[in-house]
Amino acid sequence: MTTGAKRDYYEVLGVSRGASQDEIKKAFRRLARQYHPDVNKEPDAEARFKEINEAYEVLSDDQKRAVYDRFGHNAPGMGGGAYDPFDGSDPFATIFDAFFGGQAGGGRAQRGPQRGADLRYTLRLSFEEAVFGVEKEIEYRRLETCPSCRGSGAEPGTDPMRCPKCQGSGEVRQRAPLFNMVTVTTCDTCGGTGYVIPIPCRECRGDGRLRQTRRLTVKVPAGVDGSQQIRISGEGEAGPRGGPFGNLYVALDVQPHPLFMREGNDVILELRLNVAQAALGEELEVPTLDGYERLRIPPGTQTGQTFRLRGKGVPFLRQQGRGDQIIVTRVVVPERLTEQQRRLFQELAQSFAPESQQGDRDEGLFGKIKDALGL
Ligand SMILES: [Zn+2]
Ligand SMILES: [Zn+2]
Repeated sequence: MTTGAKRDYYEVLGVSRGASQDEIKKAFRRLARQYHPDVNKEPDAEARFKEINEAYEVLSDDQKRAVYDRFGHNAPGMGGGAYDPFDGSDPFATIFDAFFGGQAGGGRAQRGPQRGADLRYTLRLSFEEAVFGVEKEIEYRRLETCPSCRGSGAEPGTDPMRCPKCQGSGEVRQRAPLFNMVTVTTCDTCGGTGYVIPIPCRECRGDGRLRQTRRLTVKVPAGVDGSQQIRISGEGEAGPRGGPFGNLYVALDVQPHPLFMREGNDVILELRLNVAQAALGEELEVPTLDGYERLRIPPGTQTGQTFRLRGKGVPFLRQQGRGDQIIVTRVVVPERLTEQQRRLFQELAQSFAPESQQGDRDEGLFGKIKDALGL
């Protein structure tokens, strides 16, 4: 076969444009067997065999097939005598466009520049900071765009070059002697980028990035809790050789409060009462997130009774309003008594006597137990 206009790949394999991978594979096998130079001694068998292989290589790869369907033999990276975007008058400009702009039609448009890694930062917050929100200055190390080469990785004044090993495709193809076996591996010379840097930037050694300290103000909204994290886009690491930045994820480590416990947007406070306060009732000053509030404890308050201060809880995240403060009482019996207190409790005990006799008369469970014990 002589050079000239390249034949359509579908035509070469004798399949329709909508052929399935199975049909393409079958057609290729049949034709490859027919035109294999070892068995076919016709003068153009070898050229046909090459043509069949080339067509199969493209049509058997869904990505390449899609590119071929759109651009035909003019598509970049089609091999052979196909149009090569790097053969223009200013090859370096094209390479730069391809890896900085991710330009359509560029050899690297499909792969795109590699994005930088995401980073995670754990931000310690006090209970109140999580409740009311805060702005915090943080400092961390990350890979940033090298200012010297501006991310290209090439020493200033020099340019990246098309990779000589893979000719800019980023892939190396090896055809096994047995037909139908084409292995494609990432080019190890350029790492799949399709270009190499003849003189690496002295600052970043060709990576295009330098590890630097980043300072940032993180706005923590009111009402967050430790289960949430804040995503700050573009504050992760720079991608290699001009690739876009990853994100920063700020995890929140909220410290416990000595008095308050949080339950969603409510705040719980345990209020300890002595027996006199519980029995007689009292108006007390109780701590809240906003300072002290007056609370009336009615006479006869028991352990575990709750009081609610509306709107004194945690603000709803990115919404109007707040939860409540819930006060749970706990009556504390004194462990030690002064002489005077002992006398007073004894008096108190006497005063309770008739009531307990009443208890005897009533046939409750307690009374029955007392009867059983002969009390
Ligand atoms: Zn550099
Ligand atoms: Zn390469």
